Amino acid sequence: MLGGTFDPVHLGHLRSAVELLEVLELDRIHMVPAKVPPLRGTPQVTPEERLALLRLGIGDTPGLIADPRELERDGPSYSADTLASLRSEYGSQARLVMALGHDAFLRLADWHLPQRLFELAHLVVIDRPDFEAPLPAALAELIEGREVDNPRALMQRPAGSLLRLALPTRMAISATEIRQRLAADRSVRFLLPEAVEARILANLLYHCR
Ligand code: ATP
Repeated sequence: MLGGTFDPVHLGHLRSAVELLEVLELDRIHMVPAKVPPLRGTPQVTPEERLALLRLGIGDTPGLIADPRELERDGPSYSADTLASLRSEYGSQARLVMALGHDAFLRLADWHLPQRLFELAHLVVIDRPDFEAPLPAALAELIEGREVDNPRALMQRPAGSLLRLALPTRMAISATEIRQRLAADRSVRFLLPEAVEARILANLLYHCR
């Protein structure tokens, strides 16, 4: 599972997902847009539109799924609920992985039921350029004794471990930067898939109105 606001989806998300599939030898990745992200302001683009952009971005990429399950729930989009729903779908013995970037990982102790996340899945933290801050104390406590240093060790059990991964292609692309560029009428070419760029420009999704 790779959750996020995807506001909008970009090549940092998509390339990371493809490399995660390969490095961890996963069957598939559910990319799950948050309907109501609990720890940030309401996105200016609707969940349905963010999902539509995600679908366009994924296109026919093998193994990547645009998963609408958080749009079907009311209230804040907690990852613990999403993982519980995936766990009941795949069964107690499936190896389930929640991937997140290092920036998101740094705030993990503030998430809803952070211990529960480890009961439901492994956590894989993707290195991102420019996000090298030291771990907060509450986070260090939360992950104590969970860290493994390779994918094989992670896949020994269905859930409960943490792996930090430097994927082959680290991209310093962020949705914040893309929104700022669009609002200022600057180019976003090659930061996101062409079809996503085309829909954003055609519908003036992130432009000042
Ligand atoms: P924003 O700039 O609006 O915070 P973002 O680019 O970080 O957005 P999100 O939708 O918040 O995108 O990210 C979803 C997940 O993907 C998070 O776990 C985030 O850390 C991760 N992620 C985002 N961009 C990258 C990237 N360039 N490389 C690796 N992981 C990324």
